[in-house]
Amino acid sequence: MLWARFVVRRSRVPECHEAPSIPQRIALARCDSFSLEMGLYLFSLARIPVSVSGWYFALIAYYAYSAGPARGLLFGLCVTVSLLVHEFGHALVARHYRLDPEVLLHGLGGLCSHKPANSNRHDAFIIAAGPFAGLFFGGLVYLAQEAMWSYRPDLMYGNEPLQLTFSFFLYITIIWNIANLLPLWPLDGGQLFRLLMVRLLKPSQAERATHYVGIAVGAVVLSLTVAYLSSPFLIIIVGFLMYKNFTQLNAVTSSGPLRRENRFAKDLLNKAETALKEGDADEAARVCHQLRTDSHVSEATLEKIWAILAVASYAQGDQDEADSYAERAPDKLVLAMLAHLPNQDSADEDAGPS
Ligand SMILES: [Zn+2]
Repeated sequence: MLWARFVVRRSRVPECHEAPSIPQRIALARCDSFSLEMGLYLFSLARIPVSVSGWYFALIAYYAYSAGPARGLLFGLCVTVSLLVHEFGHALVARHYRLDPEVLLHGLGGLCSHKPANSNRHDAFIIAAGPFAGLFFGGLVYLAQEAMWSYRPDLMYGNEPLQLTFSFFLYITIIWNIANLLPLWPLDGGQLFRLLMVRLLKPSQAERATHYVGIAVGAVVLSLTVAYLSSPFLIIIVGFLMYKNFTQLNAVTSSGPLRRENRFAKDLLNKAETALKEGDADEAARVCHQLRTDSHVSEATLEKIWAILAVASYAQGDQDEADSYAERAPDKLVLAMLAHLPNQDSADEDAGPS
């Protein structure tokens, strides 16, 4: 194994809910360390390293055992190619965002790990690219199969390996990629569903919604599998996914980045507060309005924006507007911002009509 190297990958660091408690901070500090996951380096494609874990060979061996060596290995080969297409869908988009992706083939399929993305939108594109690439590849395989039957039926008739290859590829790419889109976290569909919930709900509600839906979808899939498919492998996988949702419901860390605001939001907020301290109500209001238009602003930030806007309007002499903003922010916050005004007279003087 001279040519082999072991890759050390950094797992995604779970980010915490806003305003973490002390136990949460402790848990977060524990999570914020390197976790080692060993894989045997195979090759790099488009500058993306691909490695394989021992469990992947166990998976291929399971296919060979359950379907016979020839069929099992052919199925394993089709699984490998389909997984690589799916994972490279994720990885190429992650590479586009310069997130240093790596692909690992492991016992439960594939994994594309990369540095944390800069926004939920980037995360959504990276996640959606996997099933998209898989389904697109499935479409190409279908067209190739139809073309073969139309133009070279002589190569298809009686050619069991070729026919099997086409049906394995179609089965894996279509069924697996569609199943992968179910809102069952941490499948790709579940992760997309979580990003949608994070956008619509408060962070803690979004987490609960994600995992309750995950458990419900898992229960339906499990019942259907037991009733119609009796596949022990699928039962184990779905059971495992449901268990992950159960444990995540009680976890202190979130199931992914809670990136509700961009990294500049805090800077802008500080800028607005400083402007208010310096008596520049116009500038404070301008920065707040700029922040408000950003959809990735957390509730806590938004409350602070309302408080600053209330006090800025008050300083500008617009009492009605000040009152309407103040209603949307906690009193404590408004009072804290009011304390920033140098004194009432000078603030009124500073605030000329814009
Ligand atoms: Zn995926």
